[in-house]
Amino acid sequence: MEKDVIKKQLLEMLGPDIVLTQDIDLMYYSYDSSFFTKLTPLSPSAVVLPRSVEDVQKVMRFAYQNKVNVIPRGAGTGETGGCVAIEGGIILDLSSWNDIVEIDAPNMQVIVRPGIIHANLNEQLAAYNLFFPPDPGSSKMCTIGGMVANNASGLRAVKYGCTEQYILGLEMVLANGDIMYTGGINARCIKNVSGLNLTKLMIGSEGVLGIITRIRLRCWPKPRARGIAMVVFDKLDDAPATVLDVYREGILPSGIEILDSSAISAVNQFKPHINLPDAEAILLFEVDGNPPSVEFEGNVIKEVAGKRARSVEWSTEPKRMAELWEGRSITATAAARVRADGTRVFAGEDISVPLSRVADTLRAIRALGAKYDIKVVNYGHIGDGNVHTAPVINPEIPEEVERVKKLVHEIHLLAIEMGGSTTGEHGVGIVRRQYAGLEHGNAVDYMRKIKMAFDPEGIMNPGKLF
Ligand SMILES: Cc1cc2nc3c(=O)[nH]c(=O)nc-3n(C[C@H](O)[C@H](O)[C@H](O)COP(=O)(O)OP(=O)(O)OC[C@H]3O[C@@H](n4cnc5c(N)ncnc54)[C@H](O)[C@@H]3O)c2cc1C
Repeated sequence: MEKDVIKKQLLEMLGPDIVLTQDIDLMYYSYDSSFFTKLTPLSPSAVVLPRSVEDVQKVMRFAYQNKVNVIPRGAGTGETGGCVAIEGGIILDLSSWNDIVEIDAPNMQVIVRPGIIHANLNEQLAAYNLFFPPDPGSSKMCTIGGMVANNASGLRAVKYGCTEQYILGLEMVLANGDIMYTGGINARCIKNVSGLNLTKLMIGSEGVLGIITRIRLRCWPKPRARGIAMVVFDKLDDAPATVLDVYREGILPSGIEILDSSAISAVNQFKPHINLPDAEAILLFEVDGNPPSVEFEGNVIKEVAGKRARSVEWSTEPKRMAELWEGRSITATAAARVRADGTRVFAGEDISVPLSRVADTLRAIRALGAKYDIKVVNYGHIGDGNVHTAPVINPEIPEEVERVKKLVHEIHLLAIEMGGSTTGEHGVGIVRRQYAGLEHGNAVDYMRKIKMAFDPEGIMNPGKLF
């Protein structure tokens, strides 16, 4: 269907308040946070900002009848081009549909619309001493709908897991405009094993199976205390070995982060006052819980880590904890500044490898950086093997862009070779779909069949995932 006809019909159906058709508006929607869309912005035909299930149903029925593509979008913080229109179509921007429908504190759950921002939700839950534990670095920007669609996680996945662990049920509008409820139509229970688990199927489906319009989330009680240990190593291999030593003592920290030598020097170059020790690697352990258990676990970490480390510092004092964590909290920004004319490339940025291969992976990435003559800063969530790599280039130099593409391709292949995955957090979108067969083999054929069952016309976020 012609772009102009799509615009006209949407305007007639929904009105100018929630339909955007001007080129300047559409341009905004041609990007997410990926390097891919910086190189290749892709404009949609129109944008709709729905505020109700009926709005979404109207769009889907229209799109289904006329075979127009529909691309759901939250805040556009995704790193994979997942929410852009690869072949034109309608973007459904759900970010302004952000109500909390109900905080059901006695049942330890909350029901929200998809556009609510992660940090805002946790602010509201704090009044009930509850929280939704997954904690992406984009917490102040990303929507819960986007987190469900990408199965997002973050620093504390070590202990609290990913978004999938907390989704009790979904309301979805499907490609043909039908509404589907997963997890029980009226259910408010936490445990539920009846039927095929369609909730899990929808989590991480990146908008290719339907539009998430309501989410029932499980909440946890907020821990009362936390403590931080900073552990400094002269040998890279001692860092992952120490993580295993701590696990063997029966301790499950809420976060375990690594900064390798590249990240340490990036932080010190960006903010010299932080003055991280010059070392091969630094680990940060975060422990949370009740005050006596935090103290106990901190002491065990101090003792165990001390066997391999150059130094260990443990604190439960808020000011000192913030100082110990400061280097990690600015690593992503610091990485982008290691070169005066450089920009950090968000590509190949979140591979996941087995714990036993983390040190080998970091060494291999350093070698790849040298091979392509590109600075790469390495850090990440070592507690679950999720490595963040930050190549820094000048994107105005086409030859550098070509070189970084080759580097990133090799990083993705490296992850699979190590027995890992091309993405531990950020998802597949456009940029990693070429690896689907390599990672999953013939399971991809069954993924396609599932998509066909929900979306026979292939209008839901085409060109993503596989
Ligand atoms: C600075 C920064 C830090 C980040 N840190 C982390 C991190 O620590 N952990 C992590 O996991 N990710 C991280 N990310 C990536 C990103 O924030 C997450 O993937 C987030 O979940 C995306 O949410 P969003 O609302 O921006 O979704 P978008 O980017 O708008 O969309 C992402 C995908 O979800 C689909 N989608 C969105 N809403 C819906 C819906 N209602 N129904 C169906 N499909 C939908 C889209 O089609 C797209 O495929 C980071 C990004 C940035 C920029």
